[in-house]
Amino acid sequence: MRKIRLKEINVIQKSIHDTQWRIGLVYPNSYSIGMSGLTVKFLYHLLNQHRNIYTERVFFSADLPGPPRSIETGKTLTQFDLLAFSFQFELDYINALKMLLRSNIPVYSRDRTSDHPLLIAGGPTVTTNPEPLLDVVDVIFSGEFEVISKKFLEAIITSKHSNILEEILSVPGFYSSHEPVTQITPLITSNLNDVNYPTAQVRPISGWRDRKGVLDGYFLQVSRGCVHGCHFCLIGKIFRPKRERSLINLFELIDNGAKETETNFFSLIGSSTADYSQIIDLLKYLIEKEHKFSLPSIRIDSGIELLEQIRRSGLRSLSIAPESASDDVRFKVGKKITNSQVYDFVKKAEQNQIQELKIYFILGLSSNLVSESHEIINFLHNLAELCSSLRLNVSVTPLIPKRGTKLENLCVNYREIQAGFRALKEGIPRSIRQKMFPVHWAAVQAILSIGGRELTPIMINIAENGGSYQSWKKNLDAEPIDYYLKHYCF
Ligand code: SF4
Repeated sequence: MRKIRLKEINVIQKSIHDTQWRIGLVYPNSYSIGMSGLTVKFLYHLLNQHRNIYTERVFFSADLPGPPRSIETGKTLTQFDLLAFSFQFELDYINALKMLLRSNIPVYSRDRTSDHPLLIAGGPTVTTNPEPLLDVVDVIFSGEFEVISKKFLEAIITSKHSNILEEILSVPGFYSSHEPVTQITPLITSNLNDVNYPTAQVRPISGWRDRKGVLDGYFLQVSRGCVHGCHFCLIGKIFRPKRERSLINLFELIDNGAKETETNFFSLIGSSTADYSQIIDLLKYLIEKEHKFSLPSIRIDSGIELLEQIRRSGLRSLSIAPESASDDVRFKVGKKITNSQVYDFVKKAEQNQIQELKIYFILGLSSNLVSESHEIINFLHNLAELCSSLRLNVSVTPLIPKRGTKLENLCVNYREIQAGFRALKEGIPRSIRQKMFPVHWAAVQAILSIGGRELTPIMINIAENGGSYQSWKKNLDAEPIDYYLKHYCF
């Protein structure tokens, strides 16, 4: 396999002589996926704030054999003092284990010595359910890292190798995985304007193979948290309350970000960006400055006023997430919008020159999956008829119950979801592009999301055997769907 020649701007370089400590910021998925989110860029910036600590990025690559190496200097994981893993998806646990195995680092923390790096895990999935990883990592971090980033770096600098674990555990938000972890309370930033936010963001300028547009620009975080509290949503649950940056702060970030990240493309980030109280003024500013932008999926009830600005900006594609096609189901899970609001929005989007619309659904929000699938099919037929010039792309994901959300105890019958997916494939109009998240992998993700320490040896065997779906079946001694129904559905 040919190695890609990657060229990036804003890569941080430090002299080996000045750096006492080396941190590997590990994103256990591909470079493209890691760099198309804010987390890696943001942590990279924060973890490099002390001149004597050098943090480098390490991604998972399924293609390249041998131990994973850092992007900056080609270091292997064993050459770092600390490895900070960022977990956004449960399925990345297996990639993380594979990275350790390929690096000859013992996967159980009890088998590692002071010659090995210390392993820290953070991210939304471990915040609500760290259990599958407790025997692997040494420390769990929960919350928004910038709250304690300075204290964390100071704790490292003042420690010696022999007491680094104790020093880190003295910082709020860090929990030892060797003690019983009872209640984790995420640390939350109260004022977003005070956050040390990167204006010179690291980004590729050539040498990556996919997701080009997504990696191109500056990531502008407008707000955090969400007021809506949909029952299935982990982000809406843990990062509360909703907080916003001031418009002045955003204007500054736009001006400096454009200069220092050398771009005129802005990816607006936030759980519910259309709810930003001054979103119209923000979009007007971007348009005046002749910048391009993209929006995450927008809420139908708050997004309608944005459409005129979106038309002026030249943006021609949008995403919406009605999640269900039934008003009843939607209201029951806390998403208080109606089908007629969605139809109205889509019609107005078409009138405002939107050419492509992505629509996200979740199957499994009620106990009547047959009716859920039929309602999605009818809804999409209506939409295709109503807006014949729009290119519609639909994406359907089985519900994955997350610990810590209101639906954590819901038993999802993935067998019935498979039947629902078959009905959708048959019934959705041919003119609409469909993307279905594989149901068997959703069951695996549900196991990791709900399960406990009993999964660790299973995950290690699976990682040793390559991590394929076949190895899941073999090591669970069952189809993951049946394993989930037997062990986690009561
Ligand atoms: S509106 Fe979106 S971000 Fe907010 S709780 Fe619902 S799904 Fe989560």
